Amino acid sequence: MSSTSRRQFIFTFAGTAIGSVLLKGCLGNPPETSSAVSTATTATGAATVGEPPEVTKVKLGYIPILESAALLIAQAKGFFAKHGMTEVEVLKQASWASARDNVVLGSGGGGIDGGQWQMPMPHLITEGIISNGTKVPMYVLMQLSTQGNGIAVAGLHQGKGLHLDITKAADYIKGFQGINGRKFKAAHTFPNVNQDFWIRYWFAAGGIDPDRDIELLAVPSAETVQGMRNGTMDAFSTGDPWPYRILQEKIGYMAALTHQIWEFHPEEYLAIRADWVDKHPKATKALLKAVMEAQQWLDNPANRPEAIGILAGRNFFNIPVEVLTPPLEGKYSMGDGQNAINDFNAGPLYWKDGLGSVSYPYKSHELWFLTETIRWNFHNGKISDIATAKALIDRVNRADLWLEAAREAGFTDLPSGDSRGIEKFFDGKEFNPDNPEAYLKSLAIKRA
Ligand code: CA
Repeated sequence: MSSTSRRQFIFTFAGTAIGSVLLKGCLGNPPETSSAVSTATTATGAATVGEPPEVTKVKLGYIPILESAALLIAQAKGFFAKHGMTEVEVLKQASWASARDNVVLGSGGGGIDGGQWQMPMPHLITEGIISNGTKVPMYVLMQLSTQGNGIAVAGLHQGKGLHLDITKAADYIKGFQGINGRKFKAAHTFPNVNQDFWIRYWFAAGGIDPDRDIELLAVPSAETVQGMRNGTMDAFSTGDPWPYRILQEKIGYMAALTHQIWEFHPEEYLAIRADWVDKHPKATKALLKAVMEAQQWLDNPANRPEAIGILAGRNFFNIPVEVLTPPLEGKYSMGDGQNAINDFNAGPLYWKDGLGSVSYPYKSHELWFLTETIRWNFHNGKISDIATAKALIDRVNRADLWLEAAREAGFTDLPSGDSRGIEKFFDGKEFNPDNPEAYLKSLAIKRA
């Protein structure tokens, strides 16, 4: 990958105060792509639960956003150690591209064994599609979180109707070029994964073709926010805690939360290299039990203040606690005359949500991500049809290990089956995992 294209993928807001990160960000010097920026220590003295694991160490990558919270809480609260994984390293990744490069290396090659992923990165790395042809089989082991993402719009578009439903603003967006000499410009931080899917869904539901009517590209978060401030960037598909900052700094407003686009949607996942899991099944289950415990702990509102203190700390996100407090309380100022949202269940959730388990990796959700991959003809059609997608999911998804771990840990009320059933979107569309072709057919704007 060239330094230019790598720079396109850099994602960072680590290490600096809000003002300086927005002003300077990574405009000048992208961070090094090495993984080992921070390593937290494990709590000691906790009793081991269950059979001893084959190994006590593993290297897990994370991106400093709220989707990584369960991994970091499992580390900081000593849940990994309690389950015998006493030498877990959680390693901050400079960008999604770095995480990918590091998992291709593996811990033996100075990289990582697995960690936090947007979807469908584990499937794409398994097939070598985003790793220069190098196929590194991976297993999806659990979902880390739901919701907590959204679409931000630059302040200059206030009053134009760019909210959840942009149908009435479609002419304004399409006509932007005629008046301003450039297309309406939107960004995400990495192509062909969650953030790209959320903003594409939002545009297309409002009658805007994200490939033709606007310019949509991968830009580092800090650069995007700077562009929104100076009038060169119009919209941004982003995750917590950026929405709070965009409002707080009066750079723009929130057009939609992903909670509103698709309530309790799948978000980010824990996936580890298949060779590591196959060699260490007991250690894998120990990791799962620890993260499940962390997810349950995180969903107790009484624990959120402590969680905010841990996550905001120097070892992890290194940002002021007031940035993390609103999203973890489900409080979102939307701006542009929209009602504020104050609902714990509208923010990030980790163990359970209104539709069932967050933690359990439903195959039906992976199928949606790959169906969208087909919809937009990503990767030159390398995943070309539903049968190919399903076969890939069958190789990558390890819901069986999740269930074994949950049963061994004594958790009850567990999901049954690989499907969460029919999924409903804000614009009335439905995704029936038993008939993804009908979903594709129902969509007006698509490449497939
Ligand atoms: Ca996300």
